Amino acid sequence: MMAPMFLEKYEELVETEVIEEIKTLAGELKGVSLQHINSTAVGGGVAEILKTLVPLMEEVGLNVQWTVMEGDEEFFQVTKTFHNAFHGQPVNITQEMFEIYREVNRRNFRLIDPDVDFVIIHDQQPLGLVQAREGNQGRWIWYCHIDPTGVLEKLWNFMRPLAARFDAAIYHLPEYVKGVARREYVMPPAIDPLSEKNRPVTEEEKKAVLKKLGIDEDKPIILQVSRFDRLKDPVGVIEVYRLVKRNYSCQLVLAGGEASDDPEGIQVLREVLKTAGDDPDIHVLALDPKSDLEINVLQQSAAVVVQKSVREGFGLTATEALWKGRPVVTTGVGGLGRQVIHGKTGLVTTTTEDMASAVERLLADRAYAAILGAAGKEHVRSNFILPVYLRSWLRLLRDLHR
Ligand code: UDP
Repeated sequence: MMAPMFLEKYEELVETEVIEEIKTLAGELKGVSLQHINSTAVGGGVAEILKTLVPLMEEVGLNVQWTVMEGDEEFFQVTKTFHNAFHGQPVNITQEMFEIYREVNRRNFRLIDPDVDFVIIHDQQPLGLVQAREGNQGRWIWYCHIDPTGVLEKLWNFMRPLAARFDAAIYHLPEYVKGVARREYVMPPAIDPLSEKNRPVTEEEKKAVLKKLGIDEDKPIILQVSRFDRLKDPVGVIEVYRLVKRNYSCQLVLAGGEASDDPEGIQVLREVLKTAGDDPDIHVLALDPKSDLEINVLQQSAAVVVQKSVREGFGLTATEALWKGRPVVTTGVGGLGRQVIHGKTGLVTTTTEDMASAVERLLADRAYAAILGAAGKEHVRSNFILPVYLRSWLRLLRDLHR
């Protein structure tokens, strides 16, 4: 009886109805097979979601595979450009890029299991695999993890006919719905409160990790955790820190790692290091993918967590920080706006100067910071926590399986 035992661990965190409904739905869906396909095994939100979701789906009795598509540097340059274009950035899209995209997707057709009940394609990199669905009996689902509202027309004209071949599309927020697949669902992601990244940590663990990372545990930490991506504005975070630093003793930690489908990371990391200069209170950490405990400790140790994204599909880094009861300051774009509600679960700002003032306010008023943090934690507990997410998935699969 794997499933009930496994679910028991969450019983204190969610309402009994959630657990009961999961058990019922899991019973109806027992043995249903699924193949998740995405473009990287580590780094970024999609890998993070799959890392938690895949074992969980297996635990409740589904038959699950996770396949990472194969691509070379050239392909990931193209899909990174597409990613930026999806987020409305004014990038140049060429015919040659479409050809590279189609060709690499074609080479990956062999990775598709023709016998599964559901093929779930994550984001746009493997969207072209749908061209192989002929003769495949399973249902195809496209899970769009980014904010597609400002997608450049040239790219959408190319992607739309692909997306239109899906039985269903899933988006993180209602305003993202493109109305392109046969059925469309809204399903924001979630974090696992029991994972290494989100579990409670002891004081000893905290001390040991901070020491290892060379961070002074007594100086207030301003933290942003993110891949080194311009859309996360890490250079802007340094500007925020410099404004705050004029009035408060503090240190900045920018923690990020690599994602194999993001070739721009190295270049952005270089820009960040250059901007940081030789300030001993700026810690730019290029972490390896197995750094869940390190990220956990950083998030639990931060005086203020910022997320200065220019665009954001959902922003799991904010979810993780809120869950740890941290005061969070964001730009409120995309999914960040759902999580950080100004004056309730954190603070929302638009400019660098405003963000600096918000950080200063939270450094000065620790009681207010704690109130926001507690409300943020409760907001995550009721909306963006793993069992709630699993229930949404099972409801959706049952809906499509009938
Ligand atoms: N993350 C990580 N290591 C890093 C940077 C990020 O494990 O060095 C994780 C982070 O904790 C979060 C996810 O990657 O779980 C990022 O997801 P988010 O939705 O915030 O952004 P995305 O990278 O998908 O744009």
